[in-house]
Amino acid sequence: MGSTGKVVAGGGALGLIFLLVQLFLGGDSAQVAKALENQLNQTSDQQVIELTPQEKVVGDFVSTVLASTEDTWKQLFQQKGMAYREPKMILFKDVVQSACGGASGSTGPFYCPGDETLYMDMSFFNTLKERFGAEGGDFAIAYVIAHEVGHHVQHQLGVLEKTQNIRRQMREAQGNQVQVATELQADFFAGVWAHYEQKYLEPGDVEEAINAAAAVGDDNIQNTTQGYTRPETYTHGTSEQRMNWFTRGFKTGDLASGDTFGEMLK
Ligand SMILES: [Zn+2]
Repeated sequence: MGSTGKVVAGGGALGLIFLLVQLFLGGDSAQVAKALENQLNQTSDQQVIELTPQEKVVGDFVSTVLASTEDTWKQLFQQKGMAYREPKMILFKDVVQSACGGASGSTGPFYCPGDETLYMDMSFFNTLKERFGAEGGDFAIAYVIAHEVGHHVQHQLGVLEKTQNIRRQMREAQGNQVQVATELQADFFAGVWAHYEQKYLEPGDVEEAINAAAAVGDDNIQNTTQGYTRPETYTHGTSEQRMNWFTRGFKTGDLASGDTFGEMLK
């Protein structure tokens, strides 16, 4: 368990993206990192540190997937007569500050509508594999990214805000149901992306994504971490629900088939 590797621990979005771009384009990373560190030290207490070679590979892959989701969603939004805004992305490890508050590695990846940013927890990708038994590496990661992008899509379609308003007026158990529906729709949107993704998809990829969706089901997580399940506390849906909605998005590629809410938002 080496803990000497460096990665960005928080840090400004532009900073990290700049760092990543520099790394991928072969810039002088030491110099770039130093410049960023100076810049960030003036604005926050988060530090930009260098990515390990392994993290660089993950970071490269994450950027590729993000670009692919942008291609897909730009087209789908265009068909609806809307313009898709690209989200920002920050890779983090340990802790990070966002417009939605602070987060730690145990939070996992998340999307913050306040700054339209995807926060990708590097250590989560290992957890996904090691702890919850998600098979394969790459497409499991792609699914997680596409899911978070799904929340960004929901934000732009006004779904997130609607659900937040409704949840405020509800009891906790009902609120959880709305949240589950929100998460399942993000899984559906991830499936829609996979439907249109032609460039990188390889045989077995969709199975990997479905496997990852199963791994992060509330029942699987609760069974793994506490040995029993409490369905009333579910916030993301069961493994089966998550697999089903992803698969539905993948098979149809049709946004109109993604109403996970039913009567809840009416
Ligand atoms: Zn989610």
